[in-house]
Amino acid sequence: SKPALLSSQANPVAVFKLTNDFKEDPNPKKVNLGVGAYRTDKGHPWVLPVVKKVEKMIVDDNSLNHEYLPILGLPEFRSSASKIALGIDSAAIQENRVGAVQCLGGTGALKIGAEFLRRWYNGNDNTRTPVYVSAPTWENHNAVFANAGFEDLRPYKYWDAEKRGLDLSGFLGELESAPKHSIFVLHACAHNPTGTDPTHVEWMQVAEVMKRRKLFVFFDSAYQGFASGCLDKDAWAVRYFITQGFEMFCAQSFSKNFGLYNERVGNLTIVARDADNLKRVLSQMEKIVRVTWSNPPTQGARLVAVTLNTPELFLEWKDNVKTMADRVLLMRASLRAKLEALKTPGMWDHITQQIGMFSFTGLNPKQVEYLVKEKSVYLMSSGRINMCGLTTKNIDYVAESIHESVV
Ligand code: PLP
Repeated sequence: SKPALLSSQANPVAVFKLTNDFKEDPNPKKVNLGVGAYRTDKGHPWVLPVVKKVEKMIVDDNSLNHEYLPILGLPEFRSSASKIALGIDSAAIQENRVGAVQCLGGTGALKIGAEFLRRWYNGNDNTRTPVYVSAPTWENHNAVFANAGFEDLRPYKYWDAEKRGLDLSGFLGELESAPKHSIFVLHACAHNPTGTDPTHVEWMQVAEVMKRRKLFVFFDSAYQGFASGCLDKDAWAVRYFITQGFEMFCAQSFSKNFGLYNERVGNLTIVARDADNLKRVLSQMEKIVRVTWSNPPTQGARLVAVTLNTPELFLEWKDNVKTMADRVLLMRASLRAKLEALKTPGMWDHITQQIGMFSFTGLNPKQVEYLVKEKSVYLMSSGRINMCGLTTKNIDYVAESIHESVV
């Protein structure tokens, strides 16, 4: 018989399927609260004004071309991206033990970091090292680490459904009982999907246990700026861990805070023990990137690098980020107020307590199904909604629909 391309049918990726279903829905009142992207109050994607400006500068710059970048990426992008995460006055940067790999989005940064850890962490082949991800988490975390060869993926307690907040004692308990040297993926800010982050004091408790138990911290920073509107506030946890002497990885995505989703701009910041270790780590990173995408694309990295390295553009970008964060905060306050005014059964204060792009509404799968099928309000079955899908025009309809789904 002839050779054939054999495969079984794979399930569609939930969030993309939701968007397709939304597109096909003829209901004029339909609302998409699924997709993880910013929308304006008119419901449109937003090209940040600062990005438009820099795009023009790049087009007009005749010194630029489309030659390959170095394997590890655009140097001025990598260093400025790390500075955003660690702060310009970071002692680790001054000690020359911070380096970075330009990656294809935050996903690429997680992938390259995971590949490195599987090959080199603790000097061993680490297929058996436990990798802990929060329960719940962004659905790709498990798959990215499994795909890099990790066989022992474990959820750690994070979300207390009853109190709709952080399960701190559960989280600390997992840290205490995890095998030494386990890898923990931590959301740097604006936890996806719960919108619930530890407080500073709680982060300090987490760091204390992780340090004592020699656990590896892999921060995922996909929403810097989105949580509070302030880059420094949103990087507090990452910076605190560095002051505590951790070696670490931090996967940064510029998809959301620059609105550069399809340009695939990410950075894996590496904080090593010393300059010598960093050099060795980067040499191995180069090998991993070479067999993965060989070298990264330029446009998005240039946009970010020019913006971060030009003081007036940097200020403008911070302002653009704040515009997005403020709109989210406004929608949170407004949705909560409307549900309370409707006297929708249950407590809705968690909507304003949670931060970032998402809110974990606490709606159960039946209520979600009602919203999708009967009201054309599209949201993830977990009850997660993207606050940016709300606008001043559709918020009454969404609040009334949620009310109907609950009563
Ligand atoms: N990590 C988290 C927690 C995310 O929510 C996302 C995107 O939704 C990513 C990583 C990946 O971002 P990117 O699109 O830059 O790969």
